[in-house]
Amino acid sequence: MKKHNFYAGPSILSEYTLNNTAAAIKDFAGTGLSILEISHRSKEFTAVIEEAAQLFKELLDVPAGYEVLFLGGGASMQFCMVPFNLLKTKAAYLDTGTWSSKAIKEAKLFGEVDVVASSKEANYTYIPKDYTVPADVDYFHITTNNTIYGTEIRKDPDVNVRLVADMSSDIFSRPVDVSKYDLIYGGAQKNLAPAGVTFVIVKEDVLGKVERAIPTMLDYRTHISKGSMFNTPPVLPIFSALQTLRWYKELGGVEKLEQLDKAKAAKLYDAIDNSKIFTGTVKAEDRSIMNVCFVMKPEYAELEKGFVDFAATKGIVGIKGHRSVGGFRASLYNALPMESVDVLIAAMKEYENKI
Ligand SMILES: *Cc1c(COP(=O)(O)O)cnc(C)c1O
Repeated sequence: MKKHNFYAGPSILSEYTLNNTAAAIKDFAGTGLSILEISHRSKEFTAVIEEAAQLFKELLDVPAGYEVLFLGGGASMQFCMVPFNLLKTKAAYLDTGTWSSKAIKEAKLFGEVDVVASSKEANYTYIPKDYTVPADVDYFHITTNNTIYGTEIRKDPDVNVRLVADMSSDIFSRPVDVSKYDLIYGGAQKNLAPAGVTFVIVKEDVLGKVERAIPTMLDYRTHISKGSMFNTPPVLPIFSALQTLRWYKELGGVEKLEQLDKAKAAKLYDAIDNSKIFTGTVKAEDRSIMNVCFVMKPEYAELEKGFVDFAATKGIVGIKGHRSVGGFRASLYNALPMESVDVLIAAMKEYENKI
């Protein structure tokens, strides 16, 4: 049976990415060797990492003065690497969920942290908007998409301080005005590649301003000076990322991806809003187009348990909600086709009609 993959991460990859990755595991770029067994300094792999960085810049229209890095350690490593490199005395953070909280915890190891607003009291069901960012902070950190709670900031904020964003789960789902940011990072396993590589877009002139000693591997300048090849980079995920980036370009770039993503999300939210038994969990204006969270209405709560199993009979996988929200979460990353959304909606309707 065809599977419809709604996992939140690692998550669905395009056929194009999977097929080319599988082929390169057998024979990489006509070398007669697997990509798994060839030097990262070979000319064949050097071409891969260079094209990946270049396409990244092209698709997101990254201005001059920024570097794109491919690192290990996951987005979670960036929670400490960002303050290590950027926090002199004080930073501001917006607390919009589990990932923001984790970033805040790490930043506190390096200086004062001003949490300018939080929606924790409402189980992170909305994005706080009524706050001011103090002028004296070294940077302001946001998480653009809250993978777990299903809220999203889709407009690049205007602030008068340096801006840092975790875009792990919504990168390449819209055009981003990179010039408003000083650093953007994310794990690749949501909208780009298999787990193992983390992308960082960093403005070079923000670096070198802190007094503290930074371990070599945690210093962005190390990786900039070596083109992400100071040590062995995550070769296979970078190869897969390049395939996804080529596919994005072929599809028509981020404007086109945003159109497709919005259409998928609108259809699913519409089905949820018109359902007798399901209901959304977040404030409508802050709904994520990447991760759609929904539950059973209280009067149908006892039906919740059965839906995941029912959906599985239709080939639908990965829709169980995160334990901190419960219910269901359908992740609609770029590689997920509209057909899968249609199958999910049909399953929801069929389930509803059974009662
Ligand atoms: C998944 C996720 C992370 C954690 O990523 P790792 O690569 O597992 O460290 C951080 N932030 C957001 C927004 C995420 O979705």
